[in-house]
Amino acid sequence: MATGEASEPYVDGLAIGGGTPANEWVLAYEGFDPAREGLREALCTLGNGYFATRGAAPEARADEVHYPGTYVAGCYDRLVTEVAGRAVENEDIVNVPNWLPVTFRLADGEWFDVRRLELLGYRQELDLRHGVLTRIVRARDAAGRVTRVRQRRFVDMSRPHLAALEVTIVGENWSGPVELRSALDGTVTNSGVARYQRLRGDHLVPVEQGDVADDRMYVQVHTRQSRIFIAEAARTLVALEGRPVAERPGVVAGPGFVAHELCLDVQQGERLSVEKVVALHTSRDHAISEAGLAARSAVEEAGGFAELLAGHVLAWDQLWHRFDLPLAGQREAELALRVHIFHLLQTVSPNSIGVDCGVPARGLHGEAYRGHIFWDELFVFPLLNLRLPVLTRSMLDYRFRRLAPARRAARREGHAGAMFPWQSGSDGGEETQLVHLNPRSGRWLPDNSRLQRHIGIAVAYNAWSHYQVTGDVEFLRFRAAPMIIEVARFLADLAAYNRALDRYEIKGVMGPDEYHDGYPGAEVPGLDNNAYTNVMTVWVVSRALEILELLPDHHARELGDQLGLTTTEVTRWNDISRKMRVCFHGEGVISQFEDYDRLLELDWLDYRERYGDIQRLDRILEAEGDTTNRYKVSKQADVLMILYLLSAAEVRDIFDRLGYPFDPAHDWRSNVEYYMARTSHGSTLSWVVHSWVVARLDRRRSWELFLQALSSDIADIQGGTTHEGVHLGAMAGTVDLIQRCYGGVEARGDVLWLDPALPEELPALRFLIHYRGHRVDVEITRRRLRVVVLPALAPPVRIGFGGEVVELGGGAVKEWPLASVGPRIPPIGRDHGRGLLGAWGMRLGGVVHEWRVRR
Ligand code: BGC
Repeated sequence: MATGEASEPYVDGLAIGGGTPANEWVLAYEGFDPAREGLREALCTLGNGYFATRGAAPEARADEVHYPGTYVAGCYDRLVTEVAGRAVENEDIVNVPNWLPVTFRLADGEWFDVRRLELLGYRQELDLRHGVLTRIVRARDAAGRVTRVRQRRFVDMSRPHLAALEVTIVGENWSGPVELRSALDGTVTNSGVARYQRLRGDHLVPVEQGDVADDRMYVQVHTRQSRIFIAEAARTLVALEGRPVAERPGVVAGPGFVAHELCLDVQQGERLSVEKVVALHTSRDHAISEAGLAARSAVEEAGGFAELLAGHVLAWDQLWHRFDLPLAGQREAELALRVHIFHLLQTVSPNSIGVDCGVPARGLHGEAYRGHIFWDELFVFPLLNLRLPVLTRSMLDYRFRRLAPARRAARREGHAGAMFPWQSGSDGGEETQLVHLNPRSGRWLPDNSRLQRHIGIAVAYNAWSHYQVTGDVEFLRFRAAPMIIEVARFLADLAAYNRALDRYEIKGVMGPDEYHDGYPGAEVPGLDNNAYTNVMTVWVVSRALEILELLPDHHARELGDQLGLTTTEVTRWNDISRKMRVCFHGEGVISQFEDYDRLLELDWLDYRERYGDIQRLDRILEAEGDTTNRYKVSKQADVLMILYLLSAAEVRDIFDRLGYPFDPAHDWRSNVEYYMARTSHGSTLSWVVHSWVVARLDRRRSWELFLQALSSDIADIQGGTTHEGVHLGAMAGTVDLIQRCYGGVEARGDVLWLDPALPEELPALRFLIHYRGHRVDVEITRRRLRVVVLPALAPPVRIGFGGEVVELGGGAVKEWPLASVGPRIPPIGRDHGRGLLGAWGMRLGGVVHEWRVRR
């Protein structure tokens, strides 16, 4: 099997295909485009769940076009900067030393830089199946010398501390001396996000550097505040026509920097190759004595490029076997979905298990949001649960370890329980900034997003879902229960009883929709009775109650004693689950928050005409001296999150219990229509949620929205945010949408329920999921649903379809006939908000046309 060999030339623009054996495995670019280079660097990031390196060219330095960046999972550092007279402190995921630099120059020439050469050929291919990035350049310099360069690299998925790069140089019409340089550069800073450029980014302090042997060098730095030691060692082998060269390299070293340099005479047509193998360790690693020693020994013992590549390819092969989700007949979507799975697995993989790290919202692909961890895990873990639950478990430990700081945070606010931070980094403290910059107006504004107390709901939901899929009672007792109960406690304490209404209320918070952080004109930020927070609080306290019933008595007692649970508290949860307040307006429309209906309607058409892209209405309105707080406009799904997270049955139960006449069978549609027409999708997560909630109302519409979510990063639909890091929630969310929403998979109680609803564009679907110790092969066609439970040690599992639940042991097969696509329900949202849909349609068209499949 070819391992990352670049294929033949292909079509212009963003091309798809060109690889062997299938085309839907290669993301390929033709031609060098400085304006899109940052985007390509993010999308061509290579990583292994321990560290990741952006797809910047090996010869590139950070400048207005390139941004080489390498990030290690969980490696953060804090710096303080003076901004507008105040000290602003931020914690960043650290850009560690750049291990890539390998460059060259011909006699009397300049160092290799495609921007200073006449390009005769240029292509870059990311081979998703094997995790290999290849760049091929053919260029002529001012002296007429034509050179061919091929660079291939990978970040080892099987040995998480290693990476390798191979550069081949051939002179087509010249002979002469070539000067080579291979370096480790710890003089880099965090400077990848323009908005943050006024904030300090000099996280690295040099420790030591130098050469270790003729072919090996080494650099060590530490982070300024967190004092994490980061060491990189490299072995560079140079060969001419495959024969190693004997010349001794010169060494160039300065604080935080080391390079080997070599000058060789090369004859026309001769192949000059450089092979660089790099080891990266930090003082956070397990089972090491010291990072420098670990890196130097790792590189000394590492095999060559080809040997490492074989192990790396095998590891990817196994991952793809677990994670692939082929989309029959949808080649473009299939490739995009693989890009998403690929980047998810490069951020978190089996190599992340046991590492103290969470899932950064923007991957390990750039510095946006400073590598912080948000509620986006809510869009990631449900997918991982069904594919590699042991990985989710490890990621949930990141939260569990930060339960104590969350308790302290609640206490500081005068509340019981645990208040997880909206943005989380190293130690579980609140990392949300206090001010943020509106690049449109140039103004620094208060950032109140930390009022999104619903973050705890995401932690609780994820912990519960993991238990539902795995049935792991020990996990429930020692991990999920303490987290869920402490979050329930906090939310219950946040709720105040309103005697006049005989209802509980939660005031002064923000929902997921970040366009609303307060009432118009109010001096204090925060909103009252955000429906998502309130309804999900009912859900969380109900789970806490359920856990106490579920756990064997001795466990429940032990837990109760440990957490100091009182009967009064439990009684109050019960009461809250019956009396939480939810506001409504119009015909069964849930109000996003109290008094939402008093806000103004926005003239969407006018804004669209004036600004074109209005996804970030918050910035537009603020620059106009206005605020989104005054209008019925949402950045992203808020009320609809309820319908995204809970099944119709759960929603019905909660509202019945609360005594509100809300029936999903009837009211789902009106709520979806209402909010969809008022949402600008300023967050990529929004497309996923909207596609999901219309999946059973309007399959075509759902598919369109799915495609939009799918193009979030590949087409950079937010108009230039992807180069700062991918949107991992939307990436995982799209895969999960196919699997759980269209596939209709729901782990509830001790039954794995299946209720597929494939869009017309997907005639069939097949996937392999993990459920309670079994791997279950699910195949859905128009006519039937087929389930094969693969042989395993675990006891039989219960699988449900329609009203039937069957018990299946390893090796069992069960088939159910499916009625062909049900009666078409009238499409949703077509008759109002036409402008909105029109704009989407155009966008979608634009995006799809950028993708080309080579037949
Ligand atoms: C969204 C949040 C999200 C964050 C990180 C924001 O733009 O509004 O919901 O958690 O990005 O992805």
